[in-house]
Amino acid sequence: MAENGKGSCAKRRALVLFSGGLDSVLAVELLRRCGLEVTGMTFTSPFFGSAAAEEAAARMGIELEVVDITSRHLEVVRRPRYGYGKNMNPCIDCHALMVRVAAELMDGLEADFIATGEVLGERPKSQNRQALDLVAGASGAGELLLRPLSARLLPETRPEKEGWVDRECLLDLSGRSRRRQMDLAEEWGIGEYQSPAGGCLLTDASFSGRLKELMSRVPAFDGSDVEAVRAGRIFWSGSTLIVLGRRHEENMRLVELALPSDRLLRERDAPGPTALLRAYPRSASPNRREIAEAARLLGVYGKGKKPLAPRELVEVERRRGEAEPAS
Ligand code: SF4
Repeated sequence: MAENGKGSCAKRRALVLFSGGLDSVLAVELLRRCGLEVTGMTFTSPFFGSAAAEEAAARMGIELEVVDITSRHLEVVRRPRYGYGKNMNPCIDCHALMVRVAAELMDGLEADFIATGEVLGERPKSQNRQALDLVAGASGAGELLLRPLSARLLPETRPEKEGWVDRECLLDLSGRSRRRQMDLAEEWGIGEYQSPAGGCLLTDASFSGRLKELMSRVPAFDGSDVEAVRAGRIFWSGSTLIVLGRRHEENMRLVELALPSDRLLRERDAPGPTALLRAYPRSASPNRREIAEAARLLGVYGKGKKPLAPRELVEVERRRGEAEPAS
C-alpha cells in the first residue's frame, strides 16, 4: 500500500484500468461517488491505442497514465497461458498483464489499490468467476484488485476490509445484459463511451487471420510486422510479405512503416498502389520471383487491372515520397 503521508481520514486513491468503454467509465464514476481519488491507466500496443481512453479521461477530468506494453503484450499474444477467445484475443492473459503492470506502477502513482471495470459473467470466457480469480492471482495484485461494479458478488478485497472504500457503496452487477450499466450511465449523465472491446484488433476476425499467418511464417514477429500486416492488402510470396496500399493514406503509411531492408515499389508511369516488400529473415532481400509477383499484383490492383513486369516499376523514394527507377 502507498501510505502517501495520508492520515486515516485522507482520501484513498484507486488506479483504474481505463479503456474509455462504458464499464471502465462507470467504475471511475462509481469510485468517485464512493469518495475516492482516481487515476486512470491505459495501454498501447500494435493492437490497440489510447485515443478513446484519452478522450474519455479528458471528458471525465481524470489523470490518465498511458503505458506502452508492446513487447510484453506480444509475448502474451504469442503464447497465452489461458488461450485465446473467439479470435486471437488472449483476454485473460492480457487482463493479467495489464493488472500486473498497474501493480508495478501503483506506488509511484501514489495509488492504494487497483480497480477495473470488469463485470462478473459479462463475457463468458474472460469474466467468469474463475477468470476473475485467475487474473487477480496471475497478475500478483491479489487482494489489492477491486472490481467495483461486481464487488458485492465477490469476496471482500483489502480496500473493503481496510475501510478505504465502503462495500455498501459498491455494486452487484452481473451477466451479459448491459441494461443496468446503460441505465446508470443515463442516471449519472454519462453520454459518450466507446463500444465494448472497440479498438482491439485481436477481436477482429479478419485481422486475426492475418496475424495467424504471420505467426506461423515468422514466429519471432515484432511490432513493426504487426503494423505492416494491418496496413493494406496482404500477400505472401515465398518468405516475403507483400503489402499493397488500397488508398492514398495506406500508401503513405507504408512509406512510414518501411524498414531500411524493405523494398517500396510502385508502377512507373501511372498512379496506383504502393507495395511494401519485407523478406524474412530480415537480413534477406526479396528475390526476382518475389519482385515479379509484386509487379503482377501492382498491375492487377492498379488502374490497368493487368499484370506488370518488374521493369515497369519504380522504387518509391522514402524521405520525400518521390519515385526513383527500380533496380
Ligand atoms: S479485447 Fe484485446 S485489449 Fe481487451 S483484454 Fe482482450 S486482448 Fe486485451
